[in-house]
Amino acid sequence: MTKPKLYDVVPHWRAGSAWAGSGERRGDVYDPATGAVARQVAFASGDDVSSVVAAAVDAGREWAAASLTRRTSVLFAFREVLARRRSEVAAAITAEHGKVLDDALGEVQRGLEVVEFACGAPHLLKGSFSDGVSGGVDVYSIRQPLGVVAVISPFNFPAMVPLWFVPVAIACGNAVVLKPSEKDPSASLLLAEMWAEAGLPAGVFSVLQGDKVAVDGLLTHPDVKAVSFVGSTPIARYVYETGTTHGKRVQALGGAKNHMVVLPDADLEAAADAAVSAGFGSAGERCMAISALVCVDPVADALVPLIASRMAALVTGDGRSGCDMGPLVTGAHRDKVAGYVAAGISSGASLVVDGRSVVPSGSSGGFWLGPTLFDRVTPGMSIYDEEIFGPVLSVVRVATYDEALALVNANPYGNGAAIFTHDGGAARRFQREVEVGMVGINVPIPVPMAYYSFGGWKSSLFGDTHAHGTEGVHFFTRGKVVTSRWPSPDSPRPGVDLGFPQ
Ligand code: NAD
Repeated sequence: MTKPKLYDVVPHWRAGSAWAGSGERRGDVYDPATGAVARQVAFASGDDVSSVVAAAVDAGREWAAASLTRRTSVLFAFREVLARRRSEVAAAITAEHGKVLDDALGEVQRGLEVVEFACGAPHLLKGSFSDGVSGGVDVYSIRQPLGVVAVISPFNFPAMVPLWFVPVAIACGNAVVLKPSEKDPSASLLLAEMWAEAGLPAGVFSVLQGDKVAVDGLLTHPDVKAVSFVGSTPIARYVYETGTTHGKRVQALGGAKNHMVVLPDADLEAAADAAVSAGFGSAGERCMAISALVCVDPVADALVPLIASRMAALVTGDGRSGCDMGPLVTGAHRDKVAGYVAAGISSGASLVVDGRSVVPSGSSGGFWLGPTLFDRVTPGMSIYDEEIFGPVLSVVRVATYDEALALVNANPYGNGAAIFTHDGGAARRFQREVEVGMVGINVPIPVPMAYYSFGGWKSSLFGDTHAHGTEGVHFFTRGKVVTSRWPSPDSPRPGVDLGFPQ
């Protein structure tokens, strides 16, 4: 595995090269497996935002005029570079996020699939043509780039989430400014280097590191035409409201509370495997993690012990050392999640497995919290009502399918939901009745492939366009319809007519 070159102070990327910026503020970036500050990251000032956007405007103008052949040749080259250097990106992710290396490699793979999708841009950007709608008149539609677009991403997928948007936006002829999470910023610089290596002209892809100052600068900048945001629901709502108030098109993907419903006829061994994988993969720091396991009676009596026995075999430790689950991203987040565990106990839920007593395979200074399982959780408890974003799985017992469905649909979030059953009719009914954007049938984390679109409903998405797939192409272009008349020399002139043509 090739070790990535990581900066001591992670810089911005402007006009094709690393750039320190003028901002004096910096943030600490931790190694979550040791708890040590591993490096720092530059925080952009308002002037830095203007400087990066100005370079992007210039580059974007030329890129919009580049032929489709030129654009796709860069995308194909980027696909090759990313595939070759994927282990460097994965190592950077594990070093700063903490997720285990295999999982980080999987994240890069999912991003790579969006790049492959974007390589088909010439087909996706085809317009339509209606020949001869009237005498000598044809009508056709084209889709054109927006200009400079911003991508603001969360800590939990430092490569995959940017790659949900950036390749599609670039394929569509836009220039992109990425504002990554300040918690794990190094992957963004590796991606920038790879775009340069693939031959993308300087300025078409930029990185602006930082916090709210950088985000607000992008949201209010007149030359930023669209914003793709992924993060927590309160910030998603803020980004949507601020961005649209400033005249931008915005897609803002928010938080989640994903339910997995298990019916009594389900294969419980498979359901237990799925619940453990989807609940504790990436330490539960996935927007599609399962956090509420809804067991229709009498499922829980048998399923809870099956899950607990699998949890006993999980090894929590340094993601670089071949264990099952890594640390949480920061000490503050670990403490917040541990606070939910304490709240669950005091609200009367049954604690089946307590992750606070985990013995990690790794440094004692890491941000550790082991897999945790609660049974007999009910709405009204904070562990059910709120997004925990950690390795805490809550079992909710219900008497019927209808009760399970009502529970899922009453939740303010609507990202993903899954049902486990052998009954095709029940699965089909669930798929039609459940109010979420992504549904799994005997699949716990129903993340759509790159050629479909990813997104939730309700408080999990503000705006109406999902990420990647054809919706992504739609988001990063605007449509134009052309009506043209090329009369033949002998056709009569229509003359003056103040009415609508009939
Ligand atoms: P976050 O909302 O704290 O941060 C997301 C981005 O917003 C970061 O770049 C951050 O710098 C910026 N930001 C944070 N506070 C801000 C503020 N006050 N003003 C302006 N910008 C601000 O989210 P996070 O903790 O990095 O990520 C975890 C969250 O993301 C979870 O809620 C998770 O469900 C969600 N998420 C959702 C999806 C999805 O597809 N719906 C995917 C991944 C993560």
